[in-house]
Amino acid sequence: MKDNRDRLITAKKKAARQAERQGGKPSVAQVSKDANKKPAVTSAGKDAKKPATGKQKKGNGICPVSKECGGCKWIDKEYTVQLKEKEKWVKGLLEPFCKTEPIIGMEQPTHYRNKVHAVFGEDRKHNIISGIYEEGTHRIVPVDSCLIENEKADAIIVSIRELLKSFKIRPYNEDTGYGLLRHVLIRTGQATGQIMVVLVLASPIMPSKNNFVKALLKIHPEITTIVVNVNNRGTSMILGDKEQVIYGRGYIEDVLCGKTFRISPKSFYQVNPLQTEKLYGKALEFADLQGNETVLDAYCGTGTIGIIASDKAGKVIGVELNADAVKDARENAKRNNIKNIQFYQNDAGKFLVEMAEQGAKVDVVLMDPPRSGSDEAFLSSVVKMKPKKVVYISCNPETLARDLKYLTKQGYKVKRAVGCDMFPFTSHCECIVMLSK
Ligand code: SAH
Repeated sequence: MKDNRDRLITAKKKAARQAERQGGKPSVAQVSKDANKKPAVTSAGKDAKKPATGKQKKGNGICPVSKECGGCKWIDKEYTVQLKEKEKWVKGLLEPFCKTEPIIGMEQPTHYRNKVHAVFGEDRKHNIISGIYEEGTHRIVPVDSCLIENEKADAIIVSIRELLKSFKIRPYNEDTGYGLLRHVLIRTGQATGQIMVVLVLASPIMPSKNNFVKALLKIHPEITTIVVNVNNRGTSMILGDKEQVIYGRGYIEDVLCGKTFRISPKSFYQVNPLQTEKLYGKALEFADLQGNETVLDAYCGTGTIGIIASDKAGKVIGVELNADAVKDARENAKRNNIKNIQFYQNDAGKFLVEMAEQGAKVDVVLMDPPRSGSDEAFLSSVVKMKPKKVVYISCNPETLARDLKYLTKQGYKVKRAVGCDMFPFTSHCECIVMLSK
């Protein structure tokens, strides 16, 4: 799943999720409420200043706001039980095609999200609050910490909330249109330790900007860049179009499977980097590249899979619908000094139909479509082009099973299949499947 997928993150459920995955990969976000949605966890209670001691609304007492948030639908289940259920689900859908391998779970399934969003507002007593939108509404539920979010990011959000008071910066009020700070978005590089803070403002003028930056860095010297994003629209998208870098480089980097990726405020990037490495590692193990194959990375997002595969391939062709993601993909290839990869901005189905018509040859297809799965234009062209292997990464085992039905009817056989838990505490499960003739 891939979200950003992430381009614009939206605050309200559907729009938000949809936007993140850009194009549909439900990834994270769209996944239902899934993964990109901020799963809340412990939080401030009614008094915004005090982290809530937690009036637990759910059985296990882990998260006092899980009901309102709706992000962690499985908060009440032991992690081992979650894994068993996901494994069973994947097995039920994929075993008609192939025996499934044991699900790839997390050793430490908490605080995995590298991207954290908080909406800012006021409670009835005009105390500044920050947290999440209650599921399906625009009511802000205060949250100070969350079971699945990066803990440093959560701490930075609390510090920003406290600083607002001394700087007399008011949060934006959606009803009256007064106030300045709408959202804070924090992105962290798991491998590099770099941290980006995006302050989403309703207008471009931030009073005492420099002093605010100084004060924030004094509390959190680990922050490597701060960006102001201006969103003066009445939509539920979190990020607007205008950006100003007020500290650092305006982006962070992370390392996945030995390659470096640049993450800007709007770039799509997998939200669970530890599991992403396992996911990509398994996909490449299934592909078993020998060094001279022509590889297609379809639905490539910012090019991560293709770039990681490029060392072991003769040539990689990436195709992706979203123009911004393609730009990032080209940038990422340059950054890693990769010369044998080319990215195309196009609908993957249309692109493949053209390739097949031109008689182009591909040895291995790596595909990672959105939640809706692939389409007949794409799949029928794959069949025409006869790649030796197809490695299908999917964030929706149901559409995966549908597409496998098509490919197996056309002569492919599923040789390996495994689930990978990218989103603990949600009901979503990623899968990787390898087909050959
Ligand atoms: N493989 C990438 C991204 C996968 S998410 C990663 O692991 O990060 C799925 C991607 O498919 C998204 O980037 C989305 O923009 C893209 N997408 C959705 N519909 C598409 C289509 N019809 N053609 C090509 N790409 C599409």
